[in-house]
Order: sequence, then structure tokens, then C-alpha cells
Amino acid sequence: MKQERIIHGVVASVGTAIGKAVRTFDPLFVSFNFKLRPDQVRKEIERFRASVEKSREQLKRMQSELKRNSGPESSFLIDAHLLVLQDRLFVDRIIEKIESDYINAEWAIQQVSDDLFQAYDRLSDEYLRERRGDLDDIVRRLLHNLQSKPLPSFKKLPYEAILVGKLVPPSTLFGLRSKRIVGLATETGSPLSHTAIMARSLEIPAVVGAAELSEVSSGDLLIVDGERGVVIWAPSEETLAQYKNRDRDGKKLKKKSGAFASAPSVTEDSVQISLGANINFSEEVRSAVAHGCQFIGLYRTEFDFFRQGKQPDEESLVADYSLVLKSAKGAPLTFRTIDVGIDQKSWDGVNMNLGVRGLRFCLENKDLFKKQLRSVYRASVHGPTRLLLPFVSSVDDLDSAHAVIAEVQAELSARRQAYDPHVPIGVMIETPAAAQTCDLMASRVDFFCLGTNDLIQYYLVIDRSDQSVVHLYNPFHPAILRCLQQVYSLLRPTGKPVTVCGEMAADPPSAAVLLGLGFTSLSVSLPAYLRIKRLIRSVSMAQLKDLAAQILKMHKPKEVEEKVRATVYRK
Ligand code: PEP
Ligand code: MG
Repeated sequence: MKQERIIHGVVASVGTAIGKAVRTFDPLFVSFNFKLRPDQVRKEIERFRASVEKSREQLKRMQSELKRNSGPESSFLIDAHLLVLQDRLFVDRIIEKIESDYINAEWAIQQVSDDLFQAYDRLSDEYLRERRGDLDDIVRRLLHNLQSKPLPSFKKLPYEAILVGKLVPPSTLFGLRSKRIVGLATETGSPLSHTAIMARSLEIPAVVGAAELSEVSSGDLLIVDGERGVVIWAPSEETLAQYKNRDRDGKKLKKKSGAFASAPSVTEDSVQISLGANINFSEEVRSAVAHGCQFIGLYRTEFDFFRQGKQPDEESLVADYSLVLKSAKGAPLTFRTIDVGIDQKSWDGVNMNLGVRGLRFCLENKDLFKKQLRSVYRASVHGPTRLLLPFVSSVDDLDSAHAVIAEVQAELSARRQAYDPHVPIGVMIETPAAAQTCDLMASRVDFFCLGTNDLIQYYLVIDRSDQSVVHLYNPFHPAILRCLQQVYSLLRPTGKPVTVCGEMAADPPSAAVLLGLGFTSLSVSLPAYLRIKRLIRSVSMAQLKDLAAQILKMHKPKEVEEKVRATVYRK
């Protein structure tokens, strides 16, 4: 019998799943290369065009199904694939290759896509680099269709399945979704990938970047723990029972969620907690309102900003932001200005997390920054708007940002364009420097957001995107607890509100720690919203304060975690 083993990865989609592994092997394509006679070229091009057409039809079908079942949020992912099929750099080059080199379509596809793959690999922007998966996906589809092979069907799976692969492309996940696909675990990939986005919108728990999964075979029993970012291979009876209970609770909670949306976020001892939502795409705002969210504590604008692969113009940004604000239906919406550089390495391998990131990037790219600020301000007449600056590490950073904001306001006034001059301005506390000096920043801002994702990365010196150290990333580390306690005591006398919007707020045990330390405003991703509301309603603040006092004396993250879990899950 196999021994239980914990494989560490990164959370891509929250929730837990128990099932048997189903490996999605890369289909074996015989990309044979043969020379065509001149009279065969036209036919070969027709064969290629037919496969493009067939692929387009399949994707369109998939897109309308996706729109019907999951709403428009995720159907745009298919747009990326459809765009590849329209891309002249891709389709026309393949045709040219067939014509000029007298080669078969498979070989032409292989050659053109190999060039493009190399170009993708050279990109320094991780988000754009992740788009390589879209091209990979479309290449497989074209090759399948050229050889008239049906895409693999998992419809007949005899059990609840967890898809396991080196990298499962988004359309494979969508194509293979069936009631029986309950989880996803990949050896590579990041939570920024389209596959991760797709998993989240299909609400399939997923863990990515779990390299040791390469040893797992189809049929092995797995638990995907999308709370802790681990996959448990061959779980023991005890672990299995524990997760089954949790799973049952989760399902019950889901059923009751409709009624729950309107329940107040208040602890057992009547302490009111503000609970907001984090969104990454404008479309999510409707869902946030439907969940009963009181406010949008974090809108990571960079995903939408770079969605088209190029900078949007000001008018379309104003239109997008106005629509988002109208859809928020009066819930205050926090626009975080562009934060690029997360999880990125530059072309020469420099870790951008320590480089020109967030506000630093915006101050160096003033035109882009001003365009975004103008757009937010112009849209602000449509609903309560808040502006949040990421990756701030000094009062000087803040003063520079304020100077740009003042310029933007002056420009708008000169142009007689309407805007709300009182948009609250906030700062993310996510660098050690900001954590140490937030009290010095207080007089310059209206509110704070605590970004524990980065704070933990910088405090514990653990690169968020580096798979080899990701298991050391630990919110229960005494250094983090002390840091949070310090931030709380520095901010308290200033009276400035603070919302915790890092993932620490989205996981019940670490959220309980935050509450115990005094933070009474949390903002979490939508799939975690009801879970955290349930936590809030099931705990007493007095008990959590007592818990905080106890864990602050502990020496090791493990001890802290065990103590917290025992309290939260009342073991
Ligand atoms: C954070 O750092 O905690 C945060 C919320 O921002 P992001 O995850 O986008 O870096
Ligand atoms: Mg951050």
C-alpha cells in the first residue's frame, strides 16, 4: 500500500476535491514531414483551411455553451483562441510555408508554431507568456482536426476524476468538464493562467505548479486541497475521513448560500465585520453584487487593462470603468492602479518582484499612469470610487503619486470634464517598508489595504512564483504575526480604515488570525466569500482575541497553525 504523501503546489481555484487521477497525456501527434508535388499544394491548403474552419466551429459551439452555463465571464477565454485562428501571423504564414516549401500542413503548423512558441518564451511579461497555452491549445486542435481524430472524451469516466497533467490547456479543461471532473492538478502553470481562470469560473478546485505530480498515475486516489495549495496522494483513512466531512460541509453550505448572501457578517458576540470582494475582471462585479458583497475591496485592474494584449485608449477605459461602477450598484469600488511585475521575470532572468513593479512602474510610465487615473476619475461620477496604489515603499513614492493625481485633476478641470474630486486615495501595505512606516503615510491617505500575499513574500523572502520555495510561504510564521500586530498598532491611533485583501483573509484559519489581531474589514475572492462569512458568523471575537494572544507567544508556524485550526474547526 502506498504511503500518504503531500505534494505542494499553488492554489489556482479554491475548494477541495476527492477523486481518482486521470492523466491527460499530450496526444501523440505524428507530425510527419513529407514533400508535396506542385499539383498537391492547393489540396493541402484546402485541407488546412478545412481544419481551421472545423476548429472555429468547435470553439464557437464551446463558447456559446460556456456563455449559457457560466455566463460571459469565461467565454472570453475562447475569444483568445478564435483570435489565433484569425491571426495572419499564424494562419497566413502556415499557408505560405505550405506553398513555398511544398510541405504538408502538419509540418507547416509545427514549424510556424515552434517559432511563435520561442517568441512567447522570450517574453518578460508572465501574464502574456501564459498566453502560450492558448497557442498550444489551438495547435493541438488543428492537428487533431487535420487528422480527423476526435478530441479525447472522458465522458465515460467511471468515477469522480481529478485531471492531472503537466499543463492542462483551458479548452481541454472545458471540453472535458463533466459532472465527474471534480478537480484539477497540474505540474506546472501559475494561478495567472487561463486554465486557472477557467477552473475558478467552473468552480473546480485546482492546484497548479505541483511538480511532484509527475509520479502520479491514472487511478491513484488524490485529494486536491485548494485551500492549502496541496495535493494529497494516497491519503490515509483518517485524512480521507477528515476531508469527506469538510466536503460535506462545503456542499451543504453551497445549498444554503442563496439565503446566506443577505445574512449580516457579524460574529457570535455581535462584532460587525466588513466583508468585501476582490475581483480580477470587470465581469465579476455582477456576481459580487449577487453575493451580497458590501464593497469591492480590490479590483486588480491590470488584467483588464492588458486583456487585449495592447494598451486600451482612454475613451474605452472610461466606458469600461463606468460600466463596472454602474454594475456595482452603489457598492464602493476600489480600483487598484496597474500592478505589473507580479510573478514576473524580465528577459534576462531578473526577478521583477524586486524591481520595477506596481507604483514604481506607473511612475516610470507616466503617460500610461495618467491615462488610467484620468479614466478612473472620469468614471467616478457613476458610483462610489476608491483609488488604491500598489507596491508603495516610501512616503516619497506617495508624494510622487499625489503629484501625478493632482496633475490629472487639474487637466480634467481644465478640460471641463466631470469627476469626483473626493475619491478616497489608499495605499497597499505590502512591502516591509510600508508595514514599518504606515503611520507616517497615514496623513497622506484616506485608507489602507493590507496585501498579505506580497507582505509574506517579502517578509519571509519567498518568491511567490517560485515552485521550489512555495511550501515555505506561511501566514502562520511568527514573523508575519508580529508584523501584522505591529501594523495594527501603528494604524489604530491614526483612525484610518484598513482592509485586508490578501489571500490570508480568504482562508478561514488565517482569516481567524486576522480577526483576532483586530482587523475587522476583509476583502476576499468571490469563491471564498460565503466561506468567510460563515467563519465570521461562527466565531466569537473574544475567543479569537484570546487565540491571537496565545499564538503570538508561539515559536513555530506549525504550532500556530495547529492551534488555530483546532479553534476554528473545533477539533
Ligand atoms: C497582495 O499582495 O496581498 C494583494 C492583494 O495583491 P496581489 O495579490 O495582486 O499582489
Ligand atoms: Mg500585492
